[in-house]
Amino acid sequence: MAQINSESTVLRPSSTVHRRIVALAGGVGGAKFAHGLAQILPPEDLTVIVNTGDDFEHYGLYICPDLDTVCYTLAGLANPETGWGRVDETWNVIENASKLGGPDWFRLGDRDLGTHLERTRRLKEGQTLSQITKDFCKAWGVEQTILPMSDQPVRTIVETEAGDLAFQEYFVHRRCEPRVKGFRFEGVDLAEPAPGAREALQAADAVILCPSNPWVSIDPILRVIKKVKKPVVAISPILGGQTVKGPAAKMFRELGFKPSALAVANHYCDLISGFVLDKIDEQLKGDIGINMSTMVTNTLMKDLNDRSRLAQDVLHFIEAEL
Ligand code: GDP
Repeated sequence: MAQINSESTVLRPSSTVHRRIVALAGGVGGAKFAHGLAQILPPEDLTVIVNTGDDFEHYGLYICPDLDTVCYTLAGLANPETGWGRVDETWNVIENASKLGGPDWFRLGDRDLGTHLERTRRLKEGQTLSQITKDFCKAWGVEQTILPMSDQPVRTIVETEAGDLAFQEYFVHRRCEPRVKGFRFEGVDLAEPAPGAREALQAADAVILCPSNPWVSIDPILRVIKKVKKPVVAISPILGGQTVKGPAAKMFRELGFKPSALAVANHYCDLISGFVLDKIDEQLKGDIGINMSTMVTNTLMKDLNDRSRLAQDVLHFIEAEL
């Protein structure tokens, strides 16, 4: 595959696709795909804007689950089994706190706790989340730009039949059991995109919606950044009607949609011009909007090779179609 322009015939062979990309990401699915992009793009060409609607305070600490998952993954520090938290983790602090009667429904590892302690200390000093994230990335050797979606707090509230629940209360404590009726993002109207986000979007050749939960990972970011004037491509987090992990399919169902890659494409239809779906869903390709280019490929990322290959496929798709 190659790019063709009016001045010369062939510009670039497939192995050297260089595009400035902004990726919007939640936690596990977003981090895996962003990691794939990071294997291929020069670091200065990749900015990842991460959902912070899941952030919350616990034990007096400020915790950013999605931001930490993306940072740990790009730093090579993530736990490969869970997809969240740190590799080679120990659990002494939370086990001790639990023995003393403290809550243990949100697992906080000893290494991970260092991140939350230092972030909380700096926030209390008045530093911004984006500055702290930049410093942490430098310390971890992450060369790509990772931005929280905003320095102002935005809180995802899950409206359920059991009442309104703060996101981690729904997701971790209640294990996504209550039936979902809707979502709201408290603070979103006052939240500004983090410093650098607008500039990165302005400079980008394309924006990629990672295979993250559309309702609670990507939508909050889109609500904060408001307008995207660049070509946008989305990768389906739903394969064969199911998620790889997490409640996105259950959310689609409870909100009245049959969960599928088609439902994801429809969810984003006003925004995207390209959609990537898994081979298992090839038969849905013809039903996906006529104004949208589609690519069918293997989107399941089981290892690092899968992440890089999918990222390469998506970059070629952008090069060829958008
Ligand atoms: P969370 O904030 O930790 O829930 O993470 P995300 O929102 O980023 O990711 C959750 C979504 O990622 C789920 O809907 C999963 O189906 C999707 N996901 C996880 N791994 C993969 C994968 O390997 N391929 C694809 N296509 N989707 C994935």
